[in-house]
Amino acid sequence: MQVPKSTRYLVIGAGVHGLSTAYHLAKELKARGQGGGEDILVVDKTGVAAGASGIACGVVRNNYYQPAMAELMAANVEVWEEDPAAYAYNSVGYMALGPQVQEQDLIEVHERQQRIGYPSDLIVGEREVRDYMRGLYPDWRGRGVTVCLHEHKGGFAYNVDAIQGLAGKARGEGVQILEGVRVTGFELDNSGAVTTVETDGGSIQVEQVVVGAGPWVKEIWGMLGLPQRLDVRTPEGEVHRDREMWTFWYLQEGEITMDPSLFATAEGGIPPVIHVDSDAPLHDDDGRLITDELWGIYFKRDRHGVQGGASPLPKGHDFQVDPYPSSSVEPGFADMWVAALSHCMERFSGMRSAYKTVRSGGVGAFTVDNFPVFDEMRPNVYVIADSNHGYKMIGVGREVARVLLGEHSSLLYPFRYERFATGDLHPVSHSPYPWS
Ligand SMILES: Cc1cc2nc3c(=O)[nH]c(=O)nc-3n(C[C@H](O)[C@H](O)[C@H](O)COP(=O)(O)OP(=O)(O)OC[C@H]3O[C@@H](n4cnc5c(N)ncnc54)[C@H](O)[C@@H]3O)c2cc1C
Repeated sequence: MQVPKSTRYLVIGAGVHGLSTAYHLAKELKARGQGGGEDILVVDKTGVAAGASGIACGVVRNNYYQPAMAELMAANVEVWEEDPAAYAYNSVGYMALGPQVQEQDLIEVHERQQRIGYPSDLIVGEREVRDYMRGLYPDWRGRGVTVCLHEHKGGFAYNVDAIQGLAGKARGEGVQILEGVRVTGFELDNSGAVTTVETDGGSIQVEQVVVGAGPWVKEIWGMLGLPQRLDVRTPEGEVHRDREMWTFWYLQEGEITMDPSLFATAEGGIPPVIHVDSDAPLHDDDGRLITDELWGIYFKRDRHGVQGGASPLPKGHDFQVDPYPSSSVEPGFADMWVAALSHCMERFSGMRSAYKTVRSGGVGAFTVDNFPVFDEMRPNVYVIADSNHGYKMIGVGREVARVLLGEHSSLLYPFRYERFATGDLHPVSHSPYPWS
């Protein structure tokens, strides 16, 4: 496809971050009388929602142990709530249930939510959690959980619909989105700024670049000549030498086909998204042991039944991302995930045969500390690398737009690249997941 010879702002990637940045930047430029959407070009090698944003489970939650993540998530929820119809957003809430080892983490998360005014309830104690869950789901029978954080905001969005909604808003502001255009390289000047972006449709002269390349970030990072290995200083002052900047994980997800209305609360409402980690032995419906180690799943009501996932699989540092989503779940995933659903609620017993093998799951690129890097990595190149936290982060683009126009963002500042050298890392929780 033929591309224009120049643009003021070039955004790489039509996923949640590229499109949110384009949309919010267009609005900000217009509001300040400094231009508008016609100054912004989004290019995507495939199309709108072709990457992780189009396959994400779509969970929107605040539950993060790290204060900076929790504050940013509250801001993201504000954006989701601005236009639930356009963003295909279901404000049904979110529940995290865990074993004793996670109690303290969730207590701290709840205390912080109280302080920042994010509405949630905390239930502690095995019997108390069971009673609370049975109030919502009379057939609840989950074991090995002693703490429950019930967030009354958040929920989930329908992945592709939400991103198409965002694309529609960006186009409505005059942003041009070119699908089928791949970025292949950059020309830099002596200061390290990008003057020209090379694509398979021709060269584009640019003033400012925004990278929102999702799991492909390592490739673009390499084209920009940024370090693939680095030293990382811990908050205690220890230096871990020569670490890989990027690691790939495969997120395993699946679904069971059933009448969605059978997965409802006792009052008939759409249930919150549920995440359960448990240390109780997990058996299938026939009593076969699946695991006696800590296990975890998340699930939500979907259009065709129930959809969700489990722990991701490590894929190393040099994973081939294309064709996306590029691989599938472990052979035992379906057995484990459906057994865990049945472990939690009786209504899911006997559902193994309803498991449907669909295009689901996908790879994510995680940074060296598993938290996002949101930063100006060249004098005129802003990189949004969310470390696979980010479908829910629809508000990051709003912050980036303000930074591009010269403002400081206290929400994005904790995610600067410099933290690896200074030791300003984020605290680590007891969750087994690389994204909590
Ligand atoms: C299975 C799965 C489930 C997930 N579930 C959740 C969830 O429930 N909640 C949550 O918050 N997060 C979730 N995530 C994480 C979330 O999906 C990602 O963090 C987020 O979507 C990344 O958005 P993005 O805009 O950076 O990238 P993407 O959506 O991947 O978009 C990047 C775009 O860049 C394009 N591109 C790449 N390279 C080039 C190039 N060279 N030239 C031009 N275009 C290029 C791609 O085609 C792609 O469309 C999940 C991820 C996966 C894989």
